[in-house]
Amino acid sequence: MAAHDVDLFVIGAGSGGVRAARIAAGYGARVMIAEEYRVGGTCVIRGCVPKKLLVYASRFSLDFEEAAGYGWTLHAPAFDWSTLIANKDKEIARLEAAYMATLQKAGVAIVKSRAMFEDPHTVRLTATGERVRAAHILIATGASPHQGPAIPGLEHVISSNEAFDLPELPRRVLVQGGSYIAVEFACIFAGLGAKVTLVYRGDNILRGFDDDVREHLREQMERRGIHVITGNIVAAVEKVKTHFCAHLSGGQSITADQVMFALGRPPNVFGLRLDLAGVKGAGTGGIAVDEYSRTSVPHIYAVGDVTNRVNLTPVAIREGHAFADTVFGGKPTRVDHTNVPTAVFSEPEVGVIGLTETQALGRFGRVDIYKTMFRPLKAMLSGRDTTVLLKLVVDGATDRVLGCHIVAPDAGEMIQLMGIAVNMGASKADIDATMAVHPTIAEELVTMRTVSKSYGREAAE
Ligand SMILES: Cc1cc2nc3c(=O)[nH]c(=O)nc-3n(C[C@H](O)[C@H](O)[C@H](O)COP(=O)(O)OP(=O)(O)OC[C@H]3O[C@@H](n4cnc5c(N)ncnc54)[C@H](O)[C@@H]3O)c2cc1C
Repeated sequence: MAAHDVDLFVIGAGSGGVRAARIAAGYGARVMIAEEYRVGGTCVIRGCVPKKLLVYASRFSLDFEEAAGYGWTLHAPAFDWSTLIANKDKEIARLEAAYMATLQKAGVAIVKSRAMFEDPHTVRLTATGERVRAAHILIATGASPHQGPAIPGLEHVISSNEAFDLPELPRRVLVQGGSYIAVEFACIFAGLGAKVTLVYRGDNILRGFDDDVREHLREQMERRGIHVITGNIVAAVEKVKTHFCAHLSGGQSITADQVMFALGRPPNVFGLRLDLAGVKGAGTGGIAVDEYSRTSVPHIYAVGDVTNRVNLTPVAIREGHAFADTVFGGKPTRVDHTNVPTAVFSEPEVGVIGLTETQALGRFGRVDIYKTMFRPLKAMLSGRDTTVLLKLVVDGATDRVLGCHIVAPDAGEMIQLMGIAVNMGASKADIDATMAVHPTIAEELVTMRTVSKSYGREAAE
């Protein structure tokens, strides 16, 4: 009898787990993957993909508004939430089936069950009680929404998980949080016609992003009618007949038909019985891993949000792939977590890569900032009250571009391409040498010639 039932047992069929399972199976490993909810994980089922579909839906209202200036006459467009949700569900089911088919084609055994450790080589499937012995185990259990402290009325509050399946579009929504998820949902609900209040305890939304981006986006959101209240928390939620009244720490009360919190996503380590396997946690609340995603137990690895490194789908996928290459492909592979481009699908969109102005100042002696803010051409005829922001952070000593920050339509698409240049070590001179594509918003990235701010130059010269 074989010492192990499988070569690899993967706990969690999300972005990281699915990729790792498929690649490991491709190297000839016997692989089993357990999923307690739906194959595809957060990104596919209740994260990036359904969110982007809702974002698309929410942006039509702007297109309708802008069309008039271009000569179109539209008869009061009507929106039907249930059609959107039904179509979204159909697409998610299609993707889930595609993920399952890909795994099955690769020879991966899929079990629909929660899994937990019994000892360092044994996993128990809670659905059947079956025990599986594995030579290697990959923990890819992701993260879950956090609803904050137990305030009165917390039972009335939804997370992003439930927001995807509301029976109807709420007319008035209060979103608490300052993260990209809170901001995106505030913009989605507003775009679909709801009256939205965004409450955040800090001084501004999108903590960790460049300060210009934070200010610019907040201002744009407010111009669109989103009420942003900072320096406050929701202290209690009261049910009043068919709606809710949220009482804020500052004394204000907000009436809403739906209250949603997006207060962070702690790693899913609860109930895994990591103690029985000897797997150690990190100070961040996630599982501690080395640069190859190996935990404190040499044959147990962890990838994705459960490690709380950079919590994004492409990172989880890359880590899962690198794990399979390292352990089953004989190609030890590390993942570089620096310069990860990312987007916030707010309205307008945000795309960023590299260092913020503040981070650059902390690490480099001479920093040059190139920044432009302008009204995009499209807004001239539509009359829309909006501006875009493009910003480059440059090492004044070497001319290397350290960061790029964009708030503009399609900023996510722009930053994917700028990411290549920044990762290749492009200098400001390289960017300047690139011919503009005219007329575009992005062309301003290659035509910004004047330094907006220069730090440390005087001292060095
Ligand atoms: C609303 C929202 C929007 C987002 N938007 C973006 C975006 O635009 N771009 C982006 O890059 N990222 C986005 N993310 C983040 C992205 O979804 C995650 O970073 C990514 O899914 C992490 O992949 P993972 O493999 O680590 O975990 P997950 O995809 O979360 O997969 C973990 C899986 O493990 C399962 N599981 C957990 N415990 C067990 C257990 N004990 N036994 C069996 N199964 C278990 C879970 O059910 C889940 O399916 C978003 C997230 C949310 C919530």
